[in-house]
Amino acid sequence: STAQIGVTGLAVMGRNLARNLARHGYAVAVHNRSHARTRSLVDEHGGEGVFVPAESMADFVAALERPRKVVVMVKAGGPTDAVIDELIPLLEPGDIVVDAGNAHFPDTRRREAELKKHGLHFVGTGVSGGEEGALNGPSIMPGGSKESYAALGPILEDIAAQVDGEPCCAHVGPDGAGHFVKMVHNGIEYADMQLIAEAYDLLRQGLGASAAEIAGIFAEWNTGDLESYLIEITAQVLAHTDAETGAAFVDVVLDQAEQKGTGRWTVQNGLDLGVPITGIAEATFARALSGSVPQRAAAAGVLPASTEEWAVPAGDRDAFVEDVRLALYASKVVAYSQGFDQIAAASEEFGWDIDRGEVARIWRGGCIIRARFLNRITEAYQRDADLPLLLADEYFTGAVGNGVAAWRRVVSEAALHGVPVPAFASSLAYYDGVRAERLPAALIQAQRDFFGAHTYRRVDRDGVFHTEWSGDRAEEKR
Ligand code: NDP
Repeated sequence: STAQIGVTGLAVMGRNLARNLARHGYAVAVHNRSHARTRSLVDEHGGEGVFVPAESMADFVAALERPRKVVVMVKAGGPTDAVIDELIPLLEPGDIVVDAGNAHFPDTRRREAELKKHGLHFVGTGVSGGEEGALNGPSIMPGGSKESYAALGPILEDIAAQVDGEPCCAHVGPDGAGHFVKMVHNGIEYADMQLIAEAYDLLRQGLGASAAEIAGIFAEWNTGDLESYLIEITAQVLAHTDAETGAAFVDVVLDQAEQKGTGRWTVQNGLDLGVPITGIAEATFARALSGSVPQRAAAAGVLPASTEEWAVPAGDRDAFVEDVRLALYASKVVAYSQGFDQIAAASEEFGWDIDRGEVARIWRGGCIIRARFLNRITEAYQRDADLPLLLADEYFTGAVGNGVAAWRRVVSEAALHGVPVPAFASSLAYYDGVRAERLPAALIQAQRDFFGAHTYRRVDRDGVFHTEWSGDRAEEKR
């Protein structure tokens, strides 16, 4: 046995992860179903470190030091099961199988339970950062047992992104916790992107500004509280000109957003757990709306708008830009706060004991949502690990509080001028809902009791009550 770790599945992600490991001095066994990929990896990058290529899965496993550490980086779903089934008879108790693909967390829970029966550790691991991250340092979110992390963690921490001398990798929790957190990461990514897109649209329509001018605004924003990878690349995209037409690149791209499905998983789980992740849901539905081609064709130019032409007056332009910035920041805090609530709820539901401050910490580098403000989230959970609402942390009440008036102005202006801002608006509605001392949910309960005898509780007495709506409307205690 000559390799410290192995990677099977050498498409773009696995290949780059293997190179990252080799560059960090690990001898890496490499394998792929079709051997051509293995060969090309060794031919093109063999000089970067020690690769031990294997043509068969048996040779691949035989090349590994014990306890064996096998990273599976194949297409999520059936292919992952196929590879695991092939590995099981070749492995021995104590060996560790790492699924670094984008598995759905219930699959990870199932696989972990199955491998445990064979005495094997299964580590479902979120990896974020795309191909560039895989090569140069991703954010890594491993689940699985503490024991497996003790053996595997140091290697993963070595190849992860590093921020302020700390690796963007930590043991998230048992079984599916790592893939769950990766799923929420992707959901938050959807929300963040949608919010940025809405800010762009407001600036474009309100100011009548060009894409290039807005690129400058985003570049400026990237020097402050909003500093993040997504803001940075937005500035770059908006500054880009299409080579063929000379038009702003963003204007030649078809306006139908696609998705691979992790946003949908996040929203489905939010519904399952009863956690209002409205920012992520609006972002996912906004993509769906953009792709609703027949509906859009039926509505465009047909549905009355009853709006006025919009042109922010010259003297108000800087103030408007600042309002949009504040509204973006506040909405973003809401989306993250909701995502962290979802993590807390799942942690409770599945007994994962996830440290949310650590999650924010390992998202600071390598991944798509890396941002300066994740430090503020880590600090908030350091102040109170059981914080019931991120928004209610003293830092965020101040930071969001500063922007509330601006946020209201922006959402009102958008409504008045017919600019769709579903994520801005629903984040503000969430903010007002969660801070309300009394909600009209009381009326919902009364209605439910009226038509379905679903009962209600009272503000002034304990117990469960029903009113005889169809009779004398007397109240009885249930
Ligand atoms: P793909 O998802 O395109 O998967 C291709 C790889 O899977 C190839 O190595 C292929 O082998 C292998 N494969 C497919 N079916 C089987 C099978 N039945 N048995 C054995 N091997 C099979 O590759 P990516 O590199 O893009 O992604 C790998 C994983 O990482 C996925 O789960 C993806 O969701 C996840 N991921 C991807 C990111 C990205 O930015 N691309 C970011 C983070 C995670 P062969 O060459 O023989 O066809």
